[in-house]
Amino acid sequence: MTTVDVRLLIAGHSSQRERLARRGGAWRSVPFPATVAVIAHPSGTVLYDTGYSQRYVDATRPMPERLYRWIIPGVISSGESAVEQLAARGIAASDISTIVLSHLHADHSSGILDFPVARIVAAEAPEGTAGQRARGSLWSTTSRGVLPATLPEDYAQRRVDPATLPAVETGLLGMGEGYDVMGDGSIVAVPLPGHSPGHFGLWLPTTQGPRVLLVGDACWLRAALTGDLPPQQVIATMHDPDAYVRTITALTRLAAARPDILIVPSHCQETVDAASALLDG
Ligand SMILES: [Zn+2]
Repeated sequence: MTTVDVRLLIAGHSSQRERLARRGGAWRSVPFPATVAVIAHPSGTVLYDTGYSQRYVDATRPMPERLYRWIIPGVISSGESAVEQLAARGIAASDISTIVLSHLHADHSSGILDFPVARIVAAEAPEGTAGQRARGSLWSTTSRGVLPATLPEDYAQRRVDPATLPAVETGLLGMGEGYDVMGDGSIVAVPLPGHSPGHFGLWLPTTQGPRVLLVGDACWLRAALTGDLPPQQVIATMHDPDAYVRTITALTRLAAARPDILIVPSHCQETVDAASALLDG
């Protein structure tokens, strides 16, 4: 089995009231990092999500997209976007061969225009792109957390639906089959439904360190896997609340049965810090 090298970057962050992320949380705002995984594979570098970029800031100036930033205030500093951090590590945008998007929410996808040649592995096909910011549907895309202005015009040509890739057994308790992104079983897209349409995680069974399961927004905080779920009203806002709870339940069982697997939610600062220490060490 091919061993991949995985590192985590934080490309901007938003702030959320802790109370929205876990039932017993405080009303104070806590940072929600936008995590990007950089996976070095022998046939190219793969990203899982792209985080925030300056394009998010530009795209959320006009109405109705501005509402998105009011509700989820994303912040990205100069030098903090994925493409800039990769350049600082000697990785050019054109070196990125594949980007797996957990889903199309802007905190995961708004950096994608910075990577012009990457194949895009994503379940969701957007209703608009940077070139066709169709007025009519903007209210509906914005309300679903998607910013067409941040998506490449050739998205449809570069997109590969994960379900069209070869199916492989993940061997992960309760997870069933996934989709083989690189053709050698080293990077496997795993359906983690509920949060948004076609939400996918990424399973990395052989890395330079522990086995890694990137779970995107299947849960916001690692604490959810010990029962500290978001309040019911927040779960009700998910694309498919029942599937969201089923996914968290499956991840909770997996976490208990397989402590050897590093489960990394996109927005859990504590987990991202601990995982980075393990992976970079
Ligand atoms: Zn998110």
